[in-house]
Amino acid sequence: MAAIAQSQWHATHYWHALPDGRVQCDVCPRHCRLRPGQRGLCFVRMRGDDGIVLATYGRSSGFCVDPIEKKPLNHFLPGTAVLSFGTAGCNLACKFCQNWDISTSRQTDTLADAASPTDLAAAAERLGCRSVAFTYNDPVIFLEYAVDTAIACRKRGIKAVAVTAGYVCPEPRAELFAHLDAANIDLKAFSDDFYHSICAGRLAPVLETLEYVRHETNCWLELTTLVIPGLNDSAAELDALTRWVVEHLGRDVPLHFSAFHPDYRMRDRPPTPLATLRRARAIALANGVRYAYTGNVRDAEGEATFCHSCGTPLIVRNGYAIEAWRFAPTGCCPACGARCAGVFEEQPGDWGPHRLPVRIGR
Ligand code: SF4
Repeated sequence: MAAIAQSQWHATHYWHALPDGRVQCDVCPRHCRLRPGQRGLCFVRMRGDDGIVLATYGRSSGFCVDPIEKKPLNHFLPGTAVLSFGTAGCNLACKFCQNWDISTSRQTDTLADAASPTDLAAAAERLGCRSVAFTYNDPVIFLEYAVDTAIACRKRGIKAVAVTAGYVCPEPRAELFAHLDAANIDLKAFSDDFYHSICAGRLAPVLETLEYVRHETNCWLELTTLVIPGLNDSAAELDALTRWVVEHLGRDVPLHFSAFHPDYRMRDRPPTPLATLRRARAIALANGVRYAYTGNVRDAEGEATFCHSCGTPLIVRNGYAIEAWRFAPTGCCPACGARCAGVFEEQPGDWGPHRLPVRIGR
């Protein structure tokens, strides 16, 4: 295991000392209790000389310019480029993880690229990105780096976006989301048993985060459920999940039902059939969700954005490419005038479906 140089430690403040000499991390509901030298489950937060430090501040597992639709965010500056990056580690342990090489990394040499928050903001501007995304692994565990980067980005007019499981305690949650312009939060299933047995977490804190972000912040919110055959794809569970969303978050939060591919510690399940994703989308729409998508598959209807009022196709997509943009005026249906929920400009971005790996590190 590669050693983490002490010079890279970054002080944190969400922790408290325990009577037995250990220090408890208060960033996520795991509440790791650490003795000197120990790391939390996420690996990147560890017991330092004085409390808990973030050992990977300013270091990334790589940078890529993506279409914003890849996060996925379909209602936030569609068609624009986003500078994506992540670090290492995770505070959940999902058996189906689709980024397991990063999330389970215990090797700090995975973090090949070093970049300060101001480096990142400058690179995003230089590369023509409208936003920076904390993705690949969960920004909750590198909160201080994410927040400082979001602050540096906002000074240049660049937005900050997070892809997260929302498994975070209330105080750090408030700090993180105060600096975010948009987020895609996983709602991995609608049963505590799934969260417990498949992800080593709990459902309730995630639901609390969703309600908090929707009702207490200005952060644009979309949700993703990775639909796994035989685990979270029953009609009853999808019905309960989407009813909860409508009741607690409202009808305007877009839902993405994404296809699972066998990976990591879950290679015994088949990929999600397109028919299952379409069924999930149909259940969501029938329960009153206004914008529901299929993801990780090619599906013309499931990729498009429709007017919630009259059904006119407003944004037609081909994968991550926008093929038709029919808002008139901005954000409104040209046929009936109903407003589409989201953050839209007069024209979409022109980044297209490309994925461009970039080097930023010093
Ligand atoms: S953020 Fe990391 S160290 Fe802190 S409680 Fe969560 S898993 Fe443990």
